[in-house]
Formats: sequence, C-alpha cells, structure tokens
Amino acid sequence: MTVRTRIAPSPTGDPHVGTAYMALFNAVYARSQGGQFILRIEDTDAARSTAESEQMILDSLRWLNIEWDEGPDCGGPHGPYRQSARKHIYQEHALKLIEDQHAFYCFCSPERLDQMREAQRAAGENPRYDGLCMHLSESELRSRLNAGEPHVVRMKVPEHGECQFHDELRGEIEIPWSQVDMQVLLKNDGFPTYHLAVVVDDHLMEISHILRGEEWINSTPKHVLLYEYFGWQAPVFCHLPLLRNPDKSKLSKRKHPTSINYYRQIGILPEALINYLGMMGWSMPDEQEIFSPAQMAERFELKGIHLGGPVFDLEKLSWLNGQYLRGMDPEEFMDRIVEWGLNRDNLRRLVPLIQQRTEKFSDLVGQVDYLVGARPVLSAEDFADTGLEHEVQVQIVDHLSRELDALRDWQRDELFEICRSLAEWHQLKIRDYLKPLFVALSGRAVSLPLFDSMVFLGPDLTRMRLREALAVLGVSKKQAKRLEKQHREFRASLGSPQ
Ligand code: GLU
Repeated sequence: MTVRTRIAPSPTGDPHVGTAYMALFNAVYARSQGGQFILRIEDTDAARSTAESEQMILDSLRWLNIEWDEGPDCGGPHGPYRQSARKHIYQEHALKLIEDQHAFYCFCSPERLDQMREAQRAAGENPRYDGLCMHLSESELRSRLNAGEPHVVRMKVPEHGECQFHDELRGEIEIPWSQVDMQVLLKNDGFPTYHLAVVVDDHLMEISHILRGEEWINSTPKHVLLYEYFGWQAPVFCHLPLLRNPDKSKLSKRKHPTSINYYRQIGILPEALINYLGMMGWSMPDEQEIFSPAQMAERFELKGIHLGGPVFDLEKLSWLNGQYLRGMDPEEFMDRIVEWGLNRDNLRRLVPLIQQRTEKFSDLVGQVDYLVGARPVLSAEDFADTGLEHEVQVQIVDHLSRELDALRDWQRDELFEICRSLAEWHQLKIRDYLKPLFVALSGRAVSLPLFDSMVFLGPDLTRMRLREALAVLGVSKKQAKRLEKQHREFRASLGSPQ
C-alpha cells in the first residue's frame, strides 16, 4: 500500500502554527514510508474562507520548507484540491446516500431545532436531532421538495450500540451512538459540511492515513459510518495531541500568538520553528534536540508519538532559535537579517509611515524600533501621563482586546471603526481614548500613527501587546468579571451580541 497523507486547512484567518504542526507530521510520516503528502483546501465555509488566507497558508508552509506532492497550486491526479470546486461531487454522494436510505431530507427550521435542543438540555439530555423528518411520507416529501422548501440532508445514525474504531495511538475507541448526532451532510446552500466532504475527499484522493488533531476523535464515528454506508475501506486514524498554552489549555489566539506570521515577524527562523514543532509530542530516539524534518523522517515512527499535551513554549522556541543563529557563519547571519527585516517587502510597508517624518536616516531607528523590534518592557508608570483614571485605562485596553480577538478583517478602516465606537461608548474624545493604546503598543505616549502601527504589527503582536499592557495595569478577579459584563453591554449597544 502506498502511504498517502494530507492536511486539509480551512483558509479562514491567519495561518495557524497548528496547521504547520499537522503538515510536518503528515509530511514526515509520508516521507518516512516513501509515500505522498497532499495539501487540500477546505473552503466549504464560503462566508469565512478567503483567497488571501489560502495564499498565506501556502506561503507560510513554503517558508517552513514543507513540500507537498499534490495541491491547489501544483495540481495532481485527484484534483481539484479546493473543496469549493468539488461541490457537484459531494452532491452526487449525498444523493447516493439518500437513495440507499442512509440519509434523509430534513426541513426543520432553525427555530424548531433551537427549541428542540433547549428542551433536551432542560431534560438533562444530549442535544441531538430527534428524527422528525426521517418519517415523512413519500408524497409529503415530494411536495415539500417541489415547493422549494429550504432543506438539508442529514445522515442516519444507529439508535443503539456503539461505534468502535482503532486509533493508532490510543488503540480501540468506543463511542456510544447515543452521543452521535444525525449530522447535516449537505447544507441548504448545496455546500457540504466538513463531515461529508472529508470522507468523500479522503476516499477519492486515496488517503491511507489520517493524522489530524485529537479534537476530531468525537467526529470519527460519523466518518466511520459514512465509509460503511458508501462501502469503502476506512483509512488508518491517528489523532495527534493538540498544542497547548503553558496553562495546558488548547493553544488559542486569546492567550498565545498562534499565527505563523507572528513567529516570522519576530525573527524566528523557519528551520527553528519547524524543528520546535517536531518536538511537540515526539522526540528523536537519542533525545537530540536540533534536527531537520529530513532527519526526523529517517527515525520517525507513529508509535513514538506521546500523548501528553505538548506545551508550546515561547521561551524554549527562542532558545532553540538562538542555537541556530549562533551556529551560522557570519555571512549567512547577515543574509538572514536582510531576509527577515530589511527586505523590500517589509520596507515598502514601512516607508509610507516614515518618509515624510524623516530628516536624516539616523532618525529612522528611533521611529520604527517598536514596529521592527520588541517594544520596551512596560511599567505601570508608563500609563501615568495619559490623564485617565486607572479603571478607565483598564476598560479601554480590555474592551479593545476583546474586540480584536473577534476581528476577522485586519484592515485600517475596520480597526479605526472599532476604536471610534469604543471611544464613543467610553464618552471620550478619540485623542484621549487612544492615549493608553499608544503606550500599550509602542511603549511611549507618541509614536507613528496608531492604526497603521496595528496594521504593521498584525493581529498576534497587537493582541499580545494589549494583553501584556493589561497585565501591567493589573486587573483583579472582581474587576475581570466587571470588565466582561461591561464589554457585553458595549456589544449590546451595537446591537450585535457576541
Ligand atoms: N479543516 C480541518 C482542520 O483544519 C481538517 C480536519 C481533518 O484533518 O480532518 O482542522
């Protein structure tokens, strides 16, 4: 059997280190077995997927030197490799399931489904589709379809017993069918859900091994059942441990930088980042810490992966990066500095901010230090000159931080609009409102324009600096609760709950 592995990232937002982690393990496993590694883009969520995000995923994987054998950019025998171009394939497969009575049309409205789930929760049950539309008569079904009533396609799930499947790292897993919902497979807009698309694509693309995050274990019964319904052989499942924040919670952008762009921007080398990701849940048999993906592939075995949640620790990554930097010859060190920060792309983003403010080049460093490098370490006194009460400053930084966690489109106008409405909410002139934010982001009261700075820094660096500022300002537990409530009130005042 040829080993074929894949990743299927969704192009929504910044390229995630978790994607690089999965890509590394899938690529290394395929290489170690003389197999192939495939990149498929899971863009069935039309509202959230963007071409820009897809491009960033491809660019950052290339930057990390991860190579794929088939994908949306290079094609291959099993294309197209973008799910949005495969809609007809999923529709045909959904119809086949209906014909074989493994799936059914469901006309239930979102309101009915909400009420049903609420009642189930109130009765202490697992919220789950109750099967109403499974029992429609043939004539009612036809007339509702002919009338063009909105509908989805749902899969049937056994009422009793349990699903058993094998996970390469965990052995036999059993999940009772009572915990598995009658999953929607095809949405009203004709797009598939993840569950239908992933099974159909993995089969048609001849994927032999699925190495993916452990958050998908509970979905695997649906997939196993779909393979059975289609009469296909299921691939090998191997759920990898998820990356964790230092507090052991799932790595999330609210607590930790997750974008590959962030690490690139702060000057982490691609070979150090990929090496570090290789140490997440795996170690070289001789405990060697510095290794490349090729060296990893020579020694790699799936059963060598440990399940304890690997902590993504910035300090350890910086240490490893330092090892690489110090080991370089000076010529290469020079080249890598230029490649990192003094390249034309980076300068092109900076020049509009600085050209009209510069009299001599020696002014430059003092202007852009906090954009190109780290900002000075903050202390509570840095916020003393803003003329705003401590409580107000905390609110300003906290509420903006919460807003930015949810912001998808990181553009100057969007950032401005958020700050404008928050300033209004705080009943402050925008000039005054922005004062603590200047300090939080640049470490000083005056810097280059704030919104341009946020765009340059990008989401992860901006969020991280705001989080650090909040820690320096100090927030008590009681205050934290109050802040959450106040932020909810702000959201409600906009008429869009979050
Ligand atoms: N789009 C899913 C993710 O990025 C893919 C999961 C899978 O590999 O099956 O998590």
